[in-house]
Amino acid sequence: MIPGAFDYHRPANLSDAIGLLSKLDSEARVIAGGHSLIPMMKLRLAAPSHLVDLAAIAELKGIRLDAGEIVIGAMTTQHELLASDLLAARAPIVRETSAQIADPQVRYVGTIGGNVANGDPGNDMPALMMALGARYVLRGPGGERRVAARDYYQGAYMTAAQPGEILTAVRVPVPPAGHGYAYEKLKRKVGDYATAAAAAIVTVSGGRIATCAIGLTNVADTALFAAAAAQAVVGTTLDKASLAKASAAAEAIAAPAADGRGSAEYRKKMAGVMTSRALSRAFARATA
Ligand SMILES: Cc1cc2nc3c(=O)[nH]c(=O)nc-3n(C[C@H](O)[C@H](O)[C@H](O)COP(=O)(O)OP(=O)(O)OC[C@H]3O[C@@H](n4cnc5c(N)ncnc54)[C@H](O)[C@@H]3O)c2cc1C
Repeated sequence: MIPGAFDYHRPANLSDAIGLLSKLDSEARVIAGGHSLIPMMKLRLAAPSHLVDLAAIAELKGIRLDAGEIVIGAMTTQHELLASDLLAARAPIVRETSAQIADPQVRYVGTIGGNVANGDPGNDMPALMMALGARYVLRGPGGERRVAARDYYQGAYMTAAQPGEILTAVRVPVPPAGHGYAYEKLKRKVGDYATAAAAAIVTVSGGRIATCAIGLTNVADTALFAAAAAQAVVGTTLDKASLAKASAAAEAIAAPAADGRGSAEYRKKMAGVMTSRALSRAFARATA
């Protein structure tokens, strides 16, 4: 339970952090809240030679509106997401999801940047960001680029980030006023990772679903964007038959491994059940 030796760096700004990463060897890693990385280091599943701590970089903090998008700095903690009036008013599903991550101790320190950059299929934010159509802002020695959350995840702990790049912010398009939303997470106990979870965001017009987006957590090597499941309910009044179709479409793309949370068959089934619950609750909110 003791990590390997490493050198610790605490740059005061982003350009120094990027400069450090380019100078140090390829085993250097950034550290944010440390609530995924430090356990991995203690288990010797990660053994970085250098840790570049992002904690002192003020420009990575904060939540603001910019050009129709909510921009969340990478070092914003889950606790700060929960306390945000802007998110409560404009994208309340972010708060609903945050509240289901771990426990207060973890949420006080764990960051949104670490949660989405990590590439752990058990993290809750990636599927949500896929459903919201968010983009990640990455900055490296070559400059800045934006990658859609839906294109970011390539495998467990494998992402589109290049060596030396830092995820600086998450840009969330503001969902339309009156949208419905829900994050449904099945877990064994408070503080657990998901057995399966689903994020659903809908708009409703004339009693029928006009748009829908769904993301799935922890039922494959990466978070999943469930396009066919969403398509199954567009144009419907979310009747039983369309809900069953959406649920089956979510199950069809789920490919979970068996683990302490259940067999692969059970967790696949739960991907469908969480999809159905999230859709029902999102629809109810949009039509209330
Ligand atoms: C007991 C416990 C229960 C938990 N339960 C849940 C849960 O239910 N749901 C959930 O989603 N999470 C859960 N977590 C994980 C927690 O949310 C972590 O805080 C989160 O996964 C990582 O965020 P962090 O800020 O701690 O990142 P760190 O641990 O510091 O970093 C994680 C990884 O991301 C990289 N990284 C971090 N920030 C950046 C950045 N800005 N740019 C590029 N790379 C970066 C690091 O190099 C590292 O590889 C749990 C953790 C614990 C300890």
